[in-house]
Formats: sequence, C-alpha cells, structure tokens
Amino acid sequence: MSLTLSARLNTELSALRDSGLLIRPRVLEAPQRARTRVDGVDVVNLASNNYLGFADHPEIKARAAEYLQTWGAGAGAVRTIAGTLQIHEDFETQLAEFKHTGSALVLQSGFTTNQGVLGTLLQPGDVVVSDELNHASIIDGLRLTKATKKIYKHSDPADLDRVLSENDTEGLKMVVTDGVFSMDGDIAPLDELVAVARKYGAVTYVDDAHGSGVLGAEGRGTVHHFGLEGAEDVIQVGTLSKAWGAVGGYAAGHADLRQLLINRARPYLFSTAQPPAVVGALVAALELVQRDPSLMERLWSNTRYFKAELATLGFDTMGSQTPITPVLFGEPEAAFEASRRLLAEGVFAVGLGFPTVPRGLARIRNIVTAEHTQADLDFALGAYERVGKALGIIGA
Ligand code: PMP
Repeated sequence: MSLTLSARLNTELSALRDSGLLIRPRVLEAPQRARTRVDGVDVVNLASNNYLGFADHPEIKARAAEYLQTWGAGAGAVRTIAGTLQIHEDFETQLAEFKHTGSALVLQSGFTTNQGVLGTLLQPGDVVVSDELNHASIIDGLRLTKATKKIYKHSDPADLDRVLSENDTEGLKMVVTDGVFSMDGDIAPLDELVAVARKYGAVTYVDDAHGSGVLGAEGRGTVHHFGLEGAEDVIQVGTLSKAWGAVGGYAAGHADLRQLLINRARPYLFSTAQPPAVVGALVAALELVQRDPSLMERLWSNTRYFKAELATLGFDTMGSQTPITPVLFGEPEAAFEASRRLLAEGVFAVGLGFPTVPRGLARIRNIVTAEHTQADLDFALGAYERVGKALGIIGA
C-alpha cells in the first residue's frame, strides 16, 4: 500500500519538531512599520527589510491606489500573452536609467529572478563560481542549470582566483555573489571580485537584494557603491520587496539581456505579470529615493548609531557594514530566548540558528530603517541591555 498523505505530513513535521526547527511565523497585527504590533504587544520593529520605510509610506500608497484605479487589480496574463501593460514597460525604462544599465526586466520576485536569469544564461559547458554564503534563491537557481558549479570561500578574491584558474572553459564563465550578505550584513568586495573575474574573462552576477536602496548614490546599489556602473560584464539582479517596499525582482545589465530573458526566462514566460498597484508603488519609490536624500541619510545615521551603541554595551555585531545588524548569541537557545524576552519588552527582532546560520553563530538579526526614530532605537537598546545582562551575554 502506498504511503498516505497524513503519514508523510506527520513524519516530516515530527522531524522538524524534534530537531527544534519547526517554523511558526509571528503575525503582525498592524502594518509593516518601524513600530507595529505583534502578539498583542506594541513593538519597535527590527525584523523587516523595509529599509526606507516604503512598505507603508503615504505617497507610495497613494500612487499604488492611483494605478489600481486607472489600470485595475490584475495584469490578467503572463507578459508574453497579454499581461504586459504600458506601466510595466515604463517602469523598466526608469529602472534601467536609475541603474545606468543598457536594459532592465522586472519579474515577480527576487527569488524567481534568480531562477529565471541563472536558468536562462547558464548552459552545459559553462562554469559558474558561487560564494559559499550566497542566498538560497541563487542556490536553487543554480540547481536549474547544467553548468559546472563551483564554490569559492566567502568574499575571498584569492580563493575565487584559485577556483577560476582550475576550471577553464570555452563556454561562459560566471562569478555569482550577493552584494550584501543577508545574515551578516557584510558587503562583498565587488571591485576585487570583478577584477579577478575579468582576469579569466568571466562575467559577474550580483544579487543586490540588500544593497539596492541601501548602498550607492540615491540607493543605486552595490555596483554603484564600487563605481562599476555601466559595466557590460556585470549583471545586477535584486528584489523590489525590501528597500523598494512592494514586491518583485529585477535583472539589469547588458542592453541585450532584457530581450533574451523575455524569450527564455521561465518566470517571465509562465507566471502572471505584477499587478498595477505594485507597479505604481515601485514607480513612486524610485522617484522618492531620488528626490529625498534625507531617507538614505537617516538610514545610515540610524545604522551607525545603533551599531555603535550596541558595541558600547558589549554586544558583538559580527563586523556588519550595513543596516543588517546581527547580535551574536552563539547557541540557538540563547538567541531564541533573547528574542522572546525582547518581544516581552516591546522589541521585535528575530533569532536565527542553524541551518539558517552556521552552528555556534546563532544570532538575532536586527534591521535598522530610515523610519526608526532615535526614541525607537534608544527603546530597543534599553531592552537589549536588560536582556543581554540577564542572559549573561554582556557584563552586569
Ligand atoms: N536574494 C537575496 C540575497 C535575498 O535576501 C532575498 C530575500 N530573502 C531574495 C533574493 C528573494 O527576494 P524576494 O523576497 O523578492 O523573493
């Protein structure tokens, strides 16, 4: 007799429960803002990727509503059938201008973008070399390809050089890295990685999910941060769901990249286009970040302040260089207990343990946004001090 569905569900869920890995997402009972509500408690929110406060921004919501009224609730089809609205095309033109790239294409999410772009560009006989800490969506995207896959040590140009020197091909060579790493908040040394890639004729693929809207002039991203904008051998992908406040993914680069993706990328060909309200929100977000430099200034002054104060209290922020601010607890029990205690104090920050981060490096990941006020951050720091002392993470 074949296995029943309930037997499968039960086995899998029991295994997760027994290993302490069963996930139960916390539910936000108010909008995604610097202050929100979780489990009936009003909290300072350090858990989101809402870097610029765009997820619930009045101007962005107004534009989303306007697009909803004018263009409707849904795109109605995949883009190659009848789902490409004028607003999709216009936004892509604006995005390519913003990124200083020859072309840009928007997909439904950052996750599907990695699947679509890596799955399209890489073919048998190609060599792709990926940072050991790259995001899960890159790993899954690479699983879709028949290229030879190799790993280099995290952000290590010398190791990248070694791997490339040992893996020559007549096919395409590609180096793949996150721009900003989502668990540690460190920035990839992109200038050095691109230099090594060029030495071997490889293109560089940067997933800038956490760098776009955060790094570079007006949030143009990690590629701009390193002065590499306009390079034809650099492909930028990213998400429109973090700093940009809505949802979606993009690929930007070589002038012909868009055309090939339109013809081959499976999420583009087989999944419905973004709804108009989302496009409206993104158009407004792109305008706002260029018009109001105070957003980036606040993001970064909040980041510097929060990190410096945590360090003064004695916490280890793990060398983070961006608004992603991990606080090291070591063992997962300590991180999860601290997260519970912080929530009881009115601070929402998520504990992360293995397999999301390496064993022994369990942490709470805090993300500072432009929307936090000094009072929000001081409130969170007060809670951190009490919880850290109670758990013996910092001195009493
Ligand atoms: N790449 C990276 C580096 C990410 O951190 C994320 C988000 N977790 C994604 C891709 C996926 O983006 P999205 O949420 O838009 O699917």
